[in-house]
Amino acid sequence: MTDIIQLLPDHVANQIAAGEVVQRPASVVKELLENAIDAGATEIKLIVKDGGKTLIQVVDNGLGMSQTDARLAFERHATSKIKSAEDLFQLHTKGFRGEALASIAAIAHVDLQSKREVDEVGSQLKIEGSTVVSQEIAVTPKGTSIAVKNLFFNIPARRNFLKSNQIELKHITDEFHRVALIHSNIAFSYYHNGSELFNLPQENFRQRIVHIFGTKMNERLVPVKEDTEVVKIEGFVIKPEYAKKSRGEQFFFANQRFIKSPYLHHSISAAYEGLMRSELQPGYFLQLTVDTGSIDINIHPTKTEVKFDDEQTLYAILRSAVKHSLGQFNVAPVLDFERDGNLDTPYKFQQKQAVFPKVSVDPTFNPFSDTSSKASPRSTSFKSATTTSKGWEDLFEVAKGESSSFSSVQFESSLPETQLFESEDKEIGGGAITFQLKNKFIVTRIKSALVVINQNRAHERVLYENFLTTLTNGKVVSQELLFPVSLQFTDPEMLIFSEIIDNLSAIGFKIEQKIREKELVVSAIPSLLTEANIGTVLGTMIKDFDSKELKTNFSNIELTAKHLAKSMAIKNGQALEQEAQEALVNNLFGCEEPQLSPFKKRTYITMADNELENRFN
Ligand code: ADP
Ligand code: MG
Repeated sequence: MTDIIQLLPDHVANQIAAGEVVQRPASVVKELLENAIDAGATEIKLIVKDGGKTLIQVVDNGLGMSQTDARLAFERHATSKIKSAEDLFQLHTKGFRGEALASIAAIAHVDLQSKREVDEVGSQLKIEGSTVVSQEIAVTPKGTSIAVKNLFFNIPARRNFLKSNQIELKHITDEFHRVALIHSNIAFSYYHNGSELFNLPQENFRQRIVHIFGTKMNERLVPVKEDTEVVKIEGFVIKPEYAKKSRGEQFFFANQRFIKSPYLHHSISAAYEGLMRSELQPGYFLQLTVDTGSIDINIHPTKTEVKFDDEQTLYAILRSAVKHSLGQFNVAPVLDFERDGNLDTPYKFQQKQAVFPKVSVDPTFNPFSDTSSKASPRSTSFKSATTTSKGWEDLFEVAKGESSSFSSVQFESSLPETQLFESEDKEIGGGAITFQLKNKFIVTRIKSALVVINQNRAHERVLYENFLTTLTNGKVVSQELLFPVSLQFTDPEMLIFSEIIDNLSAIGFKIEQKIREKELVVSAIPSLLTEANIGTVLGTMIKDFDSKELKTNFSNIELTAKHLAKSMAIKNGQALEQEAQEALVNNLFGCEEPQLSPFKKRTYITMADNELENRFN
């Protein structure tokens, strides 16, 4: 008998390897995008036709390849990324196996164009089913373009196995998200059948998330940050009230690779325990950075499953980091299970009355001269709160509950505001309902809890919601100035003003912009502003405005409201009259989201009575 073992010809070996590397068009997308990233590109374009069945093309502005390298790149086990087995433990690149291009070329028509910075001309290469059809020099820009056409043209069984264009496109988009999310420092664009699906500038991680998943996402994110010897964790989790029934957005990245880890996923679920119904899924975008030697990404050909050296420790650190963030950002006990996840965009303004804080009050007002009025606050400033303050009871139900020290409020129920201060004991401030501490905090006691409010942040929140309401509803109270006020600004500042001037008018300003003179002439102002501080308010607002903010897709309205609120809010260090304090408290809790300032800082803390009791045990 003759020997029967033969070495498989390369093209057959490549086809077999392709079976592992390329399951569907999305796998090609992943490999090509990763190669572009490894090549140091700062701009990457993805072009897809017919769900990737007809064309997948990736164009980058990275390093490019020499003529010889361009040819070698398609050989199996040809890679520039590792030289020895040891390198496998210190990987800093996405690729390392050197089989992607060889596999892809075995089962598709591939056109490559590439040029390095140093070369005068580039090269062009055509390969069909592992056979080089042509290689020539070509005039092409620096970087690489690889077009993969007619995937599985020579394996009909595989081609027939592909799903509809729509489903394949969905897989490609998922892959695109994974890669684009973790490389927010790279600009990406993505086209399908000629239409642009995404165009992402270089930006930070949060902006990238919001760009991909929509502006609504911004307010749902809670930052997570933890730096230990074992792992560095950075990123965001989604507030529990936005948890979904389906999988939703769940992204782990380890050393800048998207990974799947049911084990780590479980640790996040554990951190959400008690914050949402168990059948709901937490959402997260978390980047883990570990020592390259302590992670094995080699156990799966498409490299989404990884092995960490010390998974148990990682689990514990992750869980506590997420738990901490959820608590810190005061999102812990929001438990309204019936909440409709679609009611996100900031507030339902149309249904809401304006709540104007009255902080400039009659200085001769003596809170002690008219005791009968104390039990039921009644000034104009309280009236507005009457219609909107709600959920007080909820607040203190939560505070009473044994489970947590943070209270976050779902303001759903409606309660007449007069009940707020009907509490029997008014021991604070010698009979007063509120008192100011260090000209910064307002301490008050309601039902069964002690509340400490940061006056500056609280007022920012009140003004912010006010402005949003006014901007959305267009009901403005404005006051004409007897003599218009002229203010000078720099060119960039004038530019920002022109972007937001409509919003300022909608709030009650009447402003004429004299671009050439770099001058604003203000002839009317919102009624809650005084003539004396127009300059300061507009000046500090514009200084604070980051022109970059305007470019990122967020709404102008929201930004204007936020910055105007900041510049107009009562500052810390300012003494407040009794009535002003009470107005602020009422107005704050009349807000839709009283617990956070517009800049996502906590506005107040509470201590429930029973917690107080416990502290003395
Ligand atoms: P790997 O990425 O594992 O090294 P590939 O088959 O994906 O294997 O690529 C083979 C080689 O081709 C890479 O190591 C790299 O040197 C080169 N290459 C592939 N794509 C690009 C690109 N877009 N720009 C520059 N070089 C590339
Ligand atoms: Mg590769």
